[in-house]
Amino acid sequence: MSAPIETAHGAIATPAFLPDATRGFVRGLAADDLERCGAPALVMSTFHVMQNPGSSVVRALGGVHGLAAWRGPILTDSGGFQIYSLVREQPKRGSIAERGITFQPEGAPRPFRLTAEKTVTLQVGFGADIVVCLDDCRHADDSEADHRISVERTIRWGREGRRAFDRIAPHERRPLLFAVIQGGASKALRQYCAEELLAIGFDGFGFGGWPLDAAGDLLVDTLAWTRELVPAPLPLHALGIGHPESIVRAAAMGYALFDSALPTRDARQGRLYHVQEGLEQVDLRQPGWFDRIYLRDEKQARARGPIDEGCSCPACARFSLAYLHHLFRNDDAQVARLATLHNLTFMARLTARLRLGR
Ligand SMILES: [Zn+2]
Repeated sequence: MSAPIETAHGAIATPAFLPDATRGFVRGLAADDLERCGAPALVMSTFHVMQNPGSSVVRALGGVHGLAAWRGPILTDSGGFQIYSLVREQPKRGSIAERGITFQPEGAPRPFRLTAEKTVTLQVGFGADIVVCLDDCRHADDSEADHRISVERTIRWGREGRRAFDRIAPHERRPLLFAVIQGGASKALRQYCAEELLAIGFDGFGFGGWPLDAAGDLLVDTLAWTRELVPAPLPLHALGIGHPESIVRAAAMGYALFDSALPTRDARQGRLYHVQEGLEQVDLRQPGWFDRIYLRDEKQARARGPIDEGCSCPACARFSLAYLHHLFRNDDAQVARLATLHNLTFMARLTARLRLGR
């Protein structure tokens, strides 16, 4: 367990799982729903929000908190990872260069350009509680030479982001500034990146690069080294980690923050998080402690009990699994909301248990 992260909109007890409100909302859920399922903070995507509804609209509404009527902390990402992913898929539509990254979505009148300074300026303008510097992401399979270029660029962008932040961030209710540690699977590059960023000085860090290998397994060694490179009081965010088993492992290494679209996407597809022995009782060190209930399964048609007896979410408090199965089969809109409330409540219960150190 690490110390709570103090922000202008309250403290985040850690480890914490932050739902992805990519475009300013978690699909199907209102802000009070998110409060009900114990979401400690939200993550929003700078790249998406700057396009839709657009930066000037967000500022006119009082920032991302005003947009979403969310009272708790909000972390906005740098936008770098989204653009990297899009440029990798559609190289003709964008580029990543020393000055920054550029992408022109289909149908957009002009390209979107992000520099180290611009992403920090946008996030501070949005009123984010945690602002993340631009980083240069690479694929895990890229060469060490490519990863070295990305580390040098990430350090330079971190320095430029820090400078912009110091110039423009308000002193009252000042946001926190995070940087992202790159370096692929190279221990030397991760160390170099971490040391240089620590020397610049940040309030916290993110683990950069995809945290899973091609088989979908957690990159345990790389994650563990990287945590050791950052002094314990500084929080480290495991970007993109959302599988409950992965969260348990990374939290044991000392990772403080997690975010992923996995639990909400699973919910919409009828995959409900479940622990046979009960989430508060099960031995989390035992492999296979976690499972999912599939709403589409015919065997749920007569299941009279809730998804989980130990869960107090609105789906479990009132409805049988059989009824949820019936809604799912009939494609009723409320089932996505109920399932999302359940999976996010599960994530909140899991991280609450990890905070107790059990
Ligand atoms: Zn539930």
